[in-house]
Amino acid sequence: MFEALNEQLMLNQLPGTFIAGEMLDWEAPTGGYLLTACFASGYVAGQGAQAWLSQR
Ligand SMILES: Cc1cc2nc3c(=O)[nH]c(=O)nc-3n(C[C@H](O)[C@H](O)[C@H](O)COP(=O)(O)OP(=O)(O)OC[C@H]3O[C@@H](n4cnc5c(N)ncnc54)[C@H](O)[C@@H]3O)c2cc1C
Repeated sequence: MFEALNEQLMLNQLPGTFIAGEMLDWEAPTGGYLLTACFASGYVAGQGAQAWLSQR
């Protein structure tokens, strides 16, 4: 699944679209404490979006 994303969680086939939280995986294999993963992936995606926009 992660092969569809770059390191900033941007969709390779849809540049400018960043993925975080449960959108990363509907099956949620991480079990509990998903909020931690949501916050962490949201931070990475937000940083990526900011960097992507600064290159425009
Ligand atoms: C009952 C329950 C208990 C839980 N307890 C815990 C817990 O104790 N600890 C823990 O870590 N995790 C817990 N979780 C999991 C945690 O709540 C979720 O993993 C987390 O909230 C997911 O965040 P998200 O931002 O990915 O998605 P969401 O919180 O679902 O946010 C998605 C947002 O997108 C909005 N949206 C949807 N479609 C559109 C659209 N077309 N346009 C614009 N906006 C849209 C929705 O309104 C929503 O606000 C629990 C979940 C549930 C259901």
